[in-house]
Amino acid sequence: MNSLLLDLKHIIQGEISNTQTDLNAVSQDFGGIIQKQPQIVVRPQNSTDIAKAIKYATEQEITISSRAAGHTLSGQSLNQDGILLDMRNLNQIHKFHPDKLWFQADAGVTWKQIVDTSIPHGVIPPVLTNNFEVTLGGTLSAGGLGLSSFRYGSQADNCLGLEVVTGTGDIVWCTPEKNSELFYHVLCGYGQFGIITKVQNRLRKYRPLTRSYLLCYDDLNLLLNDERLLISEGRIDNLVTLFSPCLLGISRANHQVVRPIIQWFYRLQITQEIDSINEIEEAKLLSDLNFYRHIHTEDLTFDKFVQPIAQVSHPVDTANSWIDVLLPASKAKEYIDIALERIPAFLDFRTVPVGSFCLVSQNHKMPMFALPKEELIIGLGMYPTIPKSQVQPVIEQLNLLTDIGLEMGGKRYMATWVEFELPQWRSQYGDYWSKVNEIKRKYDPSGILNPGFFKYEQAAQPNLNMTCVSSL
Ligand SMILES: Cc1cc2nc3c(=O)[nH]c(=O)nc-3n(C[C@H](O)[C@H](O)[C@H](O)COP(=O)(O)OP(=O)(O)OC[C@H]3O[C@@H](n4cnc5c(N)ncnc54)[C@H](O)[C@@H]3O)c2cc1C
Repeated sequence: MNSLLLDLKHIIQGEISNTQTDLNAVSQDFGGIIQKQPQIVVRPQNSTDIAKAIKYATEQEITISSRAAGHTLSGQSLNQDGILLDMRNLNQIHKFHPDKLWFQADAGVTWKQIVDTSIPHGVIPPVLTNNFEVTLGGTLSAGGLGLSSFRYGSQADNCLGLEVVTGTGDIVWCTPEKNSELFYHVLCGYGQFGIITKVQNRLRKYRPLTRSYLLCYDDLNLLLNDERLLISEGRIDNLVTLFSPCLLGISRANHQVVRPIIQWFYRLQITQEIDSINEIEEAKLLSDLNFYRHIHTEDLTFDKFVQPIAQVSHPVDTANSWIDVLLPASKAKEYIDIALERIPAFLDFRTVPVGSFCLVSQNHKMPMFALPKEELIIGLGMYPTIPKSQVQPVIEQLNLLTDIGLEMGGKRYMATWVEFELPQWRSQYGDYWSKVNEIKRKYDPSGILNPGFFKYEQAAQPNLNMTCVSSL
């Protein structure tokens, strides 16, 4: 039997496996672009198991990575030749206090478990992503953005405390006041500085009903101005925009290429949470807005409104090369025009979902969640699902769009497709990049946690030339 398996069986209470089926099950993420295979999968039963596994990995000079629901898109939750910690057995909600507006739970608990528990008590996490099957530890390591993020920040901004196992195998409780450096870097830190084992997060009271307005724009400037107005005046509780292309003809002006003539429409969905339909002041809400057409009004109970609209399917042999670019509002129109102009050249523009969302800088407190230097941020999401055979040319174009965004002062949301070399990492974190390297050296001195995605400056990678433990 493999010595790694034998050793870990001695020191760990949870499950350990190196069967091919178990290794295959964790060798891809939702993106389906990157493949990596660990030597062994550990399903820890408690924080001590994780501490022991980290100390063992350090002694053996092998790497160790955390994986939860595996919804990343560029291999952030994969491991090559080391130990993969599958966090999903840590799945208990320990404390739930609707009166005090917080809960405490294991990192492997899904947001669905939290929503199912909280809704009957009239409370809800302030921010929910568009997918409830992901875990507390997974989204807090990325950020976690939703329709209400312009108001409440990311899910990480609503974290009150964390239990973390650091890269040296220490188990530490951290909050904004206690061990705050660790707290502020593990959040949105993609498992680079420690493994989250327990989470304490905020809840808020919700109102029982919602009304949503679907407003159609044919002019991007008018849409962006109206989003700024709605947010600055606090008129709404939720906001999201979906872009729809309309093929209006083809241009034959260039003899070499037939070019589609496309008009993009922008569908803004704004929602108010309310106690009663009678309290809606529609004329006031929609006043001074410059939409082209008010297309639909929808009333839903809050518990129905918060549910994700649909399960995202993942057909065999397809890859998800989704990207989210975060732009300073002053550059959003210029960048979005460039992106929409380019999309038809490398994607089937009729089927690729494209949309946008808004963030407000002052609601984001996590240094690992890099944001452009402006108060209003416009996020542009492009979410292509493509046959694996077409991945390479598509990601080349998406990488190019990323670089254009970075040059315009934008940043990337790192949960989606990201292929950064050092210049892009420096651009993403700007002046903070040296601090990121310093924190990495401090909390993961052997450089064993979640390698491969972040690329550090040379001095921050002490032991990356590691050898693998051989099998017996
Ligand atoms: C269909 C779909 C819809 C999505 N919608 C949204 C959305 O609306 N908003 C949004 O913000 N994001 C969205 N995402 C992105 C998703 O929220 C993130 O990728 C998230 O990190 C996935 O969580 P997970 O539980 O699957 O974690 P994983 O993908 O397994 O891990 C994510 C990262 O966190 C690390 N990690 C996991 N657990 C821990 C832990 N306990 N301690 C330390 N590090 C850990 C992993 O190493 C990895 O780097 C979506 C993704 C998909 C596929």
